[in-house]
Parts: sequence; structure tokens; C-alpha cells
Amino acid sequence: MRGRMMETPLLVSSLIEHAGRVHASREIVARTVEGPIHRTTWGAVRSRSRRLAKALRSHGIAEGDRVGTIAWNTHRHLEIYYGVSGMGAVCHTLNPRLHPTQLVYIVTHAQDRILFVDLTFVPLVEAVADQLGCVEKVVIMTDAAHMPVTSLTNAVAYEDFLAGSDDFEWPILDETAAAALCYTSGTTGNPKGVLYSHRSTVLHALGVSTPDVFGMSRSVSVLPIVPMFHVCAWGLPYAAAATGAAMVMPGPKLDPESLSELLDSERVTFCAGVPSVFLGLVAHWRARGLAPGGLRMVLIGGAASPRSLIAALEGEFGIEFRHGWGMTETSPLGSVNTLLPEERALPAEERSQLLTRQGIPPYGVELQIVAPDGTTLPRDGVAFGELQVRGPWIVDGYFESDEQHLTADGWFPTGDVATIDPDACVRITDRTKDLIKSGGEWISSIDVENTAMGHPGVAMAAVIGIPDEKWGERPLLIVVPAPGAPPTKDEILEHLAGSLAKWQLPDDVIFVEALPMGATGKVQKRKLREEYGSR
Ligand code: ADP
Repeated sequence: MRGRMMETPLLVSSLIEHAGRVHASREIVARTVEGPIHRTTWGAVRSRSRRLAKALRSHGIAEGDRVGTIAWNTHRHLEIYYGVSGMGAVCHTLNPRLHPTQLVYIVTHAQDRILFVDLTFVPLVEAVADQLGCVEKVVIMTDAAHMPVTSLTNAVAYEDFLAGSDDFEWPILDETAAAALCYTSGTTGNPKGVLYSHRSTVLHALGVSTPDVFGMSRSVSVLPIVPMFHVCAWGLPYAAAATGAAMVMPGPKLDPESLSELLDSERVTFCAGVPSVFLGLVAHWRARGLAPGGLRMVLIGGAASPRSLIAALEGEFGIEFRHGWGMTETSPLGSVNTLLPEERALPAEERSQLLTRQGIPPYGVELQIVAPDGTTLPRDGVAFGELQVRGPWIVDGYFESDEQHLTADGWFPTGDVATIDPDACVRITDRTKDLIKSGGEWISSIDVENTAMGHPGVAMAAVIGIPDEKWGERPLLIVVPAPGAPPTKDEILEHLAGSLAKWQLPDDVIFVEALPMGATGKVQKRKLREEYGSR
């Protein structure tokens, strides 16, 4: 028997309509690429996204067509998110930090018909324009007064492109239609497109809004440091519209000083990003002796957060720390760690140790770990295996690819290795490709890195496996020393010996000025292996 309830489709346009109707005056503040701070509201974003949708339709953009963006986090990018997906096209966010040849590959693979480009990235597009045959128009995200001199023959200013009026009716789409497209950074092989649907986007927005995840509400003012070109800024632009949270968009300025200035001036209560950004912020706050006054909570994900960072945020600055795990293929939310009241009461050391875990899945995500032969492993905190995931916002295949990626029983294998504790909490120990096997035993590179970063003289650390005749592989530790007197190799090894078994200790420690970072702000171990792997 069918239920007798309305079958209102879950559409991205319903999020912006809700925000515009109910939270019209909640603010959206953006540091613009042109420089000044721009203040607008959810009401105005709704109106301008409708105008954009209308302009796209007049240009001949049809349902399912791909429209690309190469842009920072600003109010205009937010309008594009809603205007493009809302009118039925697919909002394809491109990562400007990728190599130009990869950008060309991705735009061509996606067959983007229009590109929305921030002023910063106009030269990037100009340099490859002759290879972008599918792109009919480049909309430069500025007004006529700030239009640059450009060799692009098909360029128009964003403010001129917008239609004059906002009398646009969002189409009633099938909720399973594609809404957004995001390519994985392609650390192995060509980038692969993850194609989010309206339904998955809305369900994910509701999932991440819950108290134990982002804790979104109209009392929240959120600053997504995570770029809108990286897994839709972890769904924050959608979750904020659903809940009426105010948004503060950092634009092109992601340095600690500019971020802190915005966090302060806009009384931001919550921000989210990758660990490397927060390492910079914490150093900055230490130097000035103060964290931004309104900041109550941060969510760090995308890579393992070092315990020293957790301790600094929680202990030194009194900011609630949440640890999230996920990937492009999981929209991205897979799990989040928050503490229970009794865990909160534990001594600081124990608390931060608990928070190094990546947390529990919210409703909507199922997780399991499996052995190489596919058998499910126990949740005892000891057994480790590949983490698999399933749920309504998890990928089931890549854009324009027939390859089968799910297991026979419908799980997505993540390529991450994890343990699951009896309390359902996941601990990521490695990616399968970064695992180090020494003398038949696995060494968790994340564990060694975390311990190394607990030494005050270590700013960043990465561990890779080096081929070894006797043991198969041995760990090599690569360290960026903290400012001041650099620690010696022996001091670091002694520090590690305090909590690691002898066979887990790196054979050598190398000091470098910086680690190679990828397009999404993570350490590129492949590069480190290329450079140091055959020593
Ligand atoms: P890419 O593969 O392009 O880096 P993602 O940005 O989707 O793509 O990264 C997903 C991966 O990042 C995960 O599979 C996992 O290895 C890693 N990751 C994400 N969050 C965490 C975390 N909190 N701790 C450890 N690893 C993480």
C-alpha cells in the first residue's frame, strides 16, 4: 500500500526558495575578488540566482547541460550554485589549482558549455582557450567596470549576463536528475567525475545540518574555508540555505591574517577546512595571543587532524573541535567525531586522543570494514581493513563511465584503511596506497605522523614506506621543523619511542622546508615517494 503523503521532489531550487522566503534577511558577506567586502542576504541571493537561471535559459542551456565554474568562495559563486542547478543544468566546479592540462581534460570530458570564471583565473583560461572547443561563453565574475582586457573573444561580465528580472519559475525536475559535478583530484589516473543528484544534495544538506555534524541553525554564522570547488564546500552552501545560517565567504584571501580578520569582524561562530589551513591559523593566533572571539566550533576534515592541532584548538583556545572524514564520492560527509558529555569531562590528553578518531556515521551513511577476501571485520578497534560505505549520498558510478566500482552487494570501497571501535567510531589508519608493511606488520603512517607532530619542534610531518631488503618496507619520516631552533633527528626519534613500538619507528628522519601539497591542500605522498622512495 502506498503512503498518502505529498511526493514533493527534493530539489536544489527548494533550498534557495526556502532561504529566500524564510531567512530573507540573514546575511551573506563576501570578500570580493575586486577587494571590498560585499554584504547581501539570502533574499537577494534567491533573486539573483533566478535572474541567472533566466539568463542561462535564454542562452539555450538545457536540463542536463554542464556549466563550469573556476571560482573562489563568494556570493556570486553561491548564486551560480543555485541558478545553474535550480534551472536543471549541472553545476560543475573546477579546481583552479590543478595543472592546466588536467583542467582542459576535465572541461572537455564534462563538455562544459559555459564557464563562470573569477578575475583571478582569467589568465588561466586565456592560456588554454584554444583547447576548450566545447565552451561557448566565458562569464567573468565581475561587473563592467572591472572587466579586464582579455584575449577571450567569447567573454562577458557576470553583472551584464544576469537577466533583468527575477520572474523565473524553477522547473519541477525529477529529484534523481544531476545537479552538480565534481572531479576527484586524480592522484591515480585521470580525474573521475562524481555526479551529485538533487536528491542526494538535499539529503546530504539535511544530514550535515544536524547537531552532531555541522550543528547548523539560523544562529550560526559559518565561514567555509573549504573551497566551493572542493566537494561543494562540503555541502555548507546548501546546509546554510536549509537552516538560514549566515554565510561569510573568504573570497581569494585564504591566508591566516585575512581569515582571522573576517572571523573577527563578522563574529563567525563556525568554520570548516583542511588541517593545513588550521595549522596556519593556530600559529597566527598564538603570535597575536588571541583566537577570534565569536568562534565556537571548527570542523576539520579532508586529512587526518594531528593531535597537537586538536589540543591547541580545544585546550589553548577553547574552541570545540570536530573531526570529519569523507571524500568526493561521499558528498563528502561520511563520519564526524563529537564528544559525549562524559568524554568531555576527561583530562585534555585523553580528550584529544579520542578526537583523533574520525567519528561515527550520521543517519544516511553505513560503514563497514572488510578483509582483502571481502569478509566483514569485527568492530573491536583492533581489526583493520578497507573501509566501505553506502547510502543515498554515496556515488554508485562515475560520470560517463561504465566501469563497475561497487562491490557485488552494493558497497563503495573507499581505498581507506580503518578500524572501527565498539562505540562505532572509525579510526582511519591510512589509504591503501600509503600503507607501510614492515616484516609482516602494518605501520599506520597517520599514527606515526600524529605522534611526530606532537613534538613542539615539528610543524608538519609525513611518513612514507621505503623498500627494504630485509623487512620489505621501512618507514621514512619527513619533517618540516617549527620556527625557532630545529629539533635533531635523535630528539624526534626519542620522542616517537615514547609511544610507538620499536619496529614502528622510522629508520631515518629527513628535514625539509615544505611538504608538497596537492590541489586540495593535502600532502602529496606520491611526490614524496618519487623523491625519497629509492634512497
Ligand atoms: P582526493 O582523493 O582527491 O584527495 P578527496 O578530497 O575526496 O579526494 O579526499 C578523500 C580522502 O581524504 C579520503 O579517502 C581519505 O583518505 C582522506 N581523508 C578525508 N578526511 C580524512 C580524515 N579526517 N582523516 C584521514 N583521512 C581523511
